[in-house]
Amino acid sequence: MSDCLFCKIVAGEIPSDTVRESARTLAFRDIGPQAPTHVLVVPKDHFPDVAALAADPALLAELVSEAHAVSVDEGVADSGYRLLFNTGADAGQTVHHAHAHVLGGRPLGHLG
Ligand code: 5GP
Ligand code: ZN
Repeated sequence: MSDCLFCKIVAGEIPSDTVRESARTLAFRDIGPQAPTHVLVVPKDHFPDVAALAADPALLAELVSEAHAVSVDEGVADSGYRLLFNTGADAGQTVHHAHAHVLGGRPLGHLG
């Protein structure tokens, strides 16, 4: 999508601090980190949210696997991390290109 921020990051039109790349995903640091580790993992193709992404189970699995690999790279796999998909208005989704937040490096508090 031509008007999508994360499509532009994937295309290299907007710079990002990339930490990992797989065949179909890209992982880069969030511009406004909420924790010592705060990385976004996105599919390179455009899906508006994780529910749409679930139509491609192999890609969803690749994205979750890459998110875990980010946690290993960042040294937070053992201490723990949160994998978060904001979906829709009440969750505060602001970028409508599916993305997983990988949050870690401090106690995150209980959620859910
Ligand atoms: P959402 O609120 O949609 O779940 O998450 C969007 C995230 O994208 C936010 O955490 C926000 O800080 C991040 N973000 C917004 N614009 C940019 C940008 O230009 N570059 C990067 N790396 N992150 C961004
Ligand atoms: Zn997009």
